[in-house]
Amino acid sequence: MDKMVHSFTVDSISSSENEKIRKETEKDPILSRALAFNRAGWPASKMLIDPKLYQMYNLRYDLQEIDGCLYKTDRLIIPKSCQAEYLKQLHAGHLSANTCKQKARTSIYWDNIDRNIEFCVLSCEVCGKYRRSKSKVDMVKHTVPQRPFQKIAMDIFEFDGKAWLIVVDYF
Ligand SMILES: [Zn+2]
Repeated sequence: MDKMVHSFTVDSISSSENEKIRKETEKDPILSRALAFNRAGWPASKMLIDPKLYQMYNLRYDLQEIDGCLYKTDRLIIPKSCQAEYLKQLHAGHLSANTCKQKARTSIYWDNIDRNIEFCVLSCEVCGKYRRSKSKVDMVKHTVPQRPFQKIAMDIFEFDGKAWLIVVDYF
């Protein structure tokens, strides 16, 4: 299923994309300083750094630099200036917030990315239209069958990042 989905992973980040992220990381007031600390070593105490860098300080053991870009473990850290664009990419197939979050968890990172994804999906016009038309369908009445398993319904849904098949007996 994942293969049908527009996706990108750290492995598939092109060199031009890498170059763009590298430049934007350099320009980013927080990421550029985090990168410098990552190279030189972080101070022993949080009190010695700008409070704006606390979040990165907390991540310091997970940070690594690859080709001038900063990674949280294996997730590329996206500078603020590029986040909207990557959010769009994550939600390109109009997938649910959970699926988008799952994709992000293996590829990209920024502070508040999960909340940004939720907001992006909730405020997406296409997804909103789909939700409205779906709720109309839910109102359709049906007759009650005479015996068990005379009429069943099946649907696929997503929960906790996994695809599930639900079967309902109308009886
Ligand atoms: Zn959408």
